[in-house]
Amino acid sequence: MIRSAMNVVLEGIKTAQLNFVVGSHVWIEDPELAWLDAEIIESKNQEITVNFESGSKTVSKSSNIYPKDPEFPPNGVEDMTRLAYLHEPGVLQNLHIRYTINEIYTYTGNILIAVNPFQRLPHLSATSTMAKYKGAAFGEQSPHPFAIASFAYRNMINEEKSQSILVSGESGAGKTESTKMLMHYLAYLGGRAATEGRSVEQQVLESNPVLEAFGNAKTVRNNNSSRFGKFVEIQFDQKGRISGAAIRTYLLERSRVCQVSDPERNYHCFYMLCAAPKEVQDVDKYKLGNPRTFHYLNQSNCIELDGLDDSKEYLATKRAMEVVGISSDEQDAIFRIVAAVLHLGNIEFVKGSEVDSSQPKDEKSHFHLKTAAGLLMCDVKSLEDSFCKRVMVTRGESITKLLDPDSATLSRDALAKIIYSRLFDWIVDKINNSIGQDANSKKLIGVLDIYGFESFKTNSFEQFCINLTNEKLQQHFNQHVFKMEQEEYTREEIDWSYIEFVDNQDVLDLIEKKPGGIIALLDEACMFPRSTHETFAEKLYQTFKDNKRFSKPKLSRTGFTINHYAGDVSYQTDLFLDKNKDYVVPEHAALLNASKCPFVSGLFPPLPEETIKSTKFSSIAAQFKQQLISLLETLNATEPHYIRCVKPNNLLKPGIFENNNVLQQLRCGGVMEAIRISCAGYPTRKSFSEFVQRFSILDPTVLKCPDEVTGCKRLLDKANLKDYQIGNTKVFLRAGQMAELDACRAEV
Ligand code: ATP
Ligand code: MG
Repeated sequence: MIRSAMNVVLEGIKTAQLNFVVGSHVWIEDPELAWLDAEIIESKNQEITVNFESGSKTVSKSSNIYPKDPEFPPNGVEDMTRLAYLHEPGVLQNLHIRYTINEIYTYTGNILIAVNPFQRLPHLSATSTMAKYKGAAFGEQSPHPFAIASFAYRNMINEEKSQSILVSGESGAGKTESTKMLMHYLAYLGGRAATEGRSVEQQVLESNPVLEAFGNAKTVRNNNSSRFGKFVEIQFDQKGRISGAAIRTYLLERSRVCQVSDPERNYHCFYMLCAAPKEVQDVDKYKLGNPRTFHYLNQSNCIELDGLDDSKEYLATKRAMEVVGISSDEQDAIFRIVAAVLHLGNIEFVKGSEVDSSQPKDEKSHFHLKTAAGLLMCDVKSLEDSFCKRVMVTRGESITKLLDPDSATLSRDALAKIIYSRLFDWIVDKINNSIGQDANSKKLIGVLDIYGFESFKTNSFEQFCINLTNEKLQQHFNQHVFKMEQEEYTREEIDWSYIEFVDNQDVLDLIEKKPGGIIALLDEACMFPRSTHETFAEKLYQTFKDNKRFSKPKLSRTGFTINHYAGDVSYQTDLFLDKNKDYVVPEHAALLNASKCPFVSGLFPPLPEETIKSTKFSSIAAQFKQQLISLLETLNATEPHYIRCVKPNNLLKPGIFENNNVLQQLRCGGVMEAIRISCAGYPTRKSFSEFVQRFSILDPTVLKCPDEVTGCKRLLDKANLKDYQIGNTKVFLRAGQMAELDACRAEV
């Protein structure tokens, strides 16, 4: 099991446990279940003998044992910081207990942890629930995304400061579902009377199904996985009513358009269109039919999804498109393009009559070529040429090069990908234009739904970009949590100068420093025609051989490992150079620009002459880095709120809570780090009255003290504690001091 940073901080607790009391309960590390409950039956020289519930016994060093709260509330606590022992097993026990009683939301201070229930829990999203949170002070109602949204909304109104809500977690953890709840709730708070027809808030809400149709797909991790990141900025007017919205999207996964691995699916819209109801006549118009006949869909055996009716989804998507202002002509063009992409995928190539040339394979391929050209309203011959020929310009002369069947297929896929990604961007722009921006609004609430940290068996350029995002957000998060802690200490007027926190600036430098960071070296490699992923990897090894955050994996010749805040991730460089090049084949751009369909030609504005001639490339990583800089600038101007989504199991089933899996996510999401920052100071806080109540048994005379502060001090002295702090309203204890107090209590 990976040792967490958290455990380091728990040293404080360990030293406090030297006198483990026989009969008390403790947590013992277990490789399978993370932590097991056990009872101490003997304690001798740091060697502790314990009894498990199962009846088995073991002897363990006291340093591997953590105290268990003897008074752990049977239904857990709503806020983790109220745990008497704020340590890993306690955090886990609390989440687990709550999950079993369908309390899926828990706070850690101001951070909301949401554990995916994998079942509809209607009481959590009902309108009556929304009403309960309206106007309620934070913490008055049970933890909930509505409470976070309500808090953000109130802060925005009262303090005239923009807010943001950052939702994170791994794929399938529930980010998008939580984001939708937040948006519904903000629309509820800031909506106008429903009489206005297509209201701004309705449009904001209906943007979700449209974006999901074109940007979500079934993956092994999630049946409705968002394959793009999203930041929705909701603008409010002076009266706190929604007056506009802007959606920014990040890095749509393009490769999925042409490549689907079993048992995943391509983007939902393809299946929807194939299933479009007969009466709409779309099937004949688009010449589609059975999705299994299309190469871009039948690479995977998964075509239908349980519980999802693609035909109904098609109609629902059209309705949503209507609401967000996409006209029926535009819808027609959009679905024509979607159909064209499928037909493109069915054009196969074989060797042509000339050396190294290619041509469509057979009648069937010609049919799909013709259909695609018809749907895109472009010239068939030019479409074929754009796959089978390439015009090279060298020393002022243009030479036509013929492409072999493999290269023609690659060219076909490149065209499908670029059309689809331009289409997606068009949809986002259109939604933004039709919802409209309130340029005067100074009050915003941004909601971020973006991919969490990823570490798979093989990690490529996409994971590299995703993990860069997470490093950046983690830094933002740490700085914020740190600030909040400091503010609490200031409010309570206690000394706080000794809290430290680990900054991940060194990882960010490694990746994005200019010049010399990994992205800079990647861009450099992309500009040299002779670079390969081998030369790129070699350059990385040379440059970063002494970098603590960088290493070369033992069994790889061209991979590299980054020591991220959430752990080590090894990346395979094989496709880094290709994937970083945002290159549109000039023939493709010219072909589509000449389309007779204004919608299609509008997606491909004419390229300036110099761009066609130059071989200069545009770097995806650099563009993405710029987008992140701008996102962080926006976030830095807001007051942030955090929702950490947790996926309790990989079976996507209700009722299963896998300890190790959850722990790993709490670490990656920075929840453990937040607790660590808190533990480094005075993690346990008890109000004076709570404290007196719990420990008056040590000295019952304190109940007669004129004031509670004196009582608290007397009790702390009695237990011989040093280094605690008395704030304005609370006692602040060091990590482990609660355990010492409990031990004293047990001895009375
Ligand atoms: P990805 O990164 O792949 O987009 P995600 O974090 O956005 O993943 P969601 O799509 O929000 O994950 O959730 C995955 C699935 O889990 C949902 O389709 C739904 O079935 C279930 N789910 C998530 N949250 C809830 C919830 N609050 N109530 C009921 N079901 C939920
Ligand atoms: Mg999602």
